[in-house]
Amino acid sequence: MERNQQRRGLLIVLSSPSGAGKTTISRKLMEADPTIGMSISATTRPPRPGEEDGVDYHFVTEQAFEHLVDEGELAEWAYVFDHRYGSPKEPIKDALKAGRDILFDIDWQGTQQLETAFGNDLVSIFILPPDMAELERRLRARATDSEEVIQGRMRRAAGEIVHWNEYDYVLVNDNVEACLDEVKAIIVAERLRKHRQPYVSDLVRKLVERPND
Ligand code: 5GP
Repeated sequence: MERNQQRRGLLIVLSSPSGAGKTTISRKLMEADPTIGMSISATTRPPRPGEEDGVDYHFVTEQAFEHLVDEGELAEWAYVFDHRYGSPKEPIKDALKAGRDILFDIDWQGTQQLETAFGNDLVSIFILPPDMAELERRLRARATDSEEVIQGRMRRAAGEIVHWNEYDYVLVNDNVEACLDEVKAIIVAERLRKHRQPYVSDLVRKLVERPND
């Protein structure tokens, strides 16, 4: 059996204020390593142009979201920009069991909840923008949000940034490729942590029993 098939899956959280480059980094990361799956959140926010239901988000009504909460089907959920967002529980359990890694693009509130629920299986990374002017430039470059929404996101950015210290890792995204390489390095190292390689104790036993084989 492949060593990787025996390892425990990893829950990788990427958080940042919107516009810090997290979405680009997530996309590039999954292109580079297709074994990583993306957690598709449920949200009550309406789709933006180009967004697809079941791909970018599961776009649901308030009532449907309430139902997911009541049925305990979300591993975490939070209000972000007046809308509700949450991560479905089932795909997380499946991924962990199958030894697959799963990536979350969620805010600090959701990260805290996942930390409580999954502790050891979670690796959290916070991405900072190099400065606030750059953040605003990136938000405007998207050209999909109204001025009011952009200003709202700028105000909220500071509220998000102050939570950087609750994360395992913090990166400054002044260069997407460099930041992507740092995320990849974190994942490589985290996959090798001993509690994620349960097969090692068997291997060591064999190595010790038959040192010359
Ligand atoms: P957007 O509306 O730009 O797609 O996302 C807004 C914010 O909601 C982002 O900071 C994103 O990380 C966060 N978010 C997206 N999905 C979830 C989720 O399932 N749970 C939580 N807690 N936050 C989420």
